[in-house]
Amino acid sequence: MIDTHCHLDFPDYHEDLDQVIERAGQAGVEKMITIGIDAPSSRAAAALARERLNVYAAVGLHPNSAAEADENLWREIDDLAAERKVVAVGETGLDYYRNRAPRDAQRRAFLRQIDIAAGHDLPVVIHCRQAYDDCYDILRGLGRPLRGVMHCFSGSAEDARRFLDLGLLLSFGGPVTFPNAEELRGVVRSVRPEDLMLETDAPFLAPQAFRGTRNEPAYVRYIARALARLYDLSLHDIDRITTLNANRLFGIGPPDSAETA
Ligand SMILES: [Zn+2]
Repeated sequence: MIDTHCHLDFPDYHEDLDQVIERAGQAGVEKMITIGIDAPSSRAAAALARERLNVYAAVGLHPNSAAEADENLWREIDDLAAERKVVAVGETGLDYYRNRAPRDAQRRAFLRQIDIAAGHDLPVVIHCRQAYDDCYDILRGLGRPLRGVMHCFSGSAEDARRFLDLGLLLSFGGPVTFPNAEELRGVVRSVRPEDLMLETDAPFLAPQAFRGTRNEPAYVRYIARALARLYDLSLHDIDRITTLNANRLFGIGPPDSAETA
């Protein structure tokens, strides 16, 4: 399995990151993508990816911090995006739920990161909260295909359809395991496993079995199990399909001989 969205640089893991990564391996998580949310966290994510064989990084500026954006920051994100194990730009997008940054600053930062991603031929990791219409308009307005994922998707079945039609993938995290998330599970059932990747968004949003405690990549199997039940597939099938999608989107398939030589 691949945890395509976690935040391993967060202080939550400062004490025991080695054990967290080891437990992930024991739980069948072969790779993790740690996601930057601002300049320091993107730097830390790229450093972790350099140090750890099975960790990859995304670098970017979260919409909640969009007001921090300046040319120095974009230069740094652009430099980091050139590193071999930096496999995506983000998380970027729009968050009208928390609304911590002005909407126009969020939109500008989003567009800028889409450009940086395109310059490096990288996919975009998109955070969208209560902003699905604007997010869709921005992406469709590009007038060109975009590779990426709508992470921790919380929109409607109709929203899901629109983003899939743009060529994006979706990922669902811990909330699919929550007892009161019948509506969200309906959205999952409305799409195909071929459209999905796995993620935890750790340290946030622990699955129901650990709800209220720190999340970690090892728990991604609880998401996989919930998806298997929803599609009436085996855990193995969910693993196979979502791993293929992640390997393909982020270009992190098994190394060929040229890479190991
Ligand atoms: Zn995140």
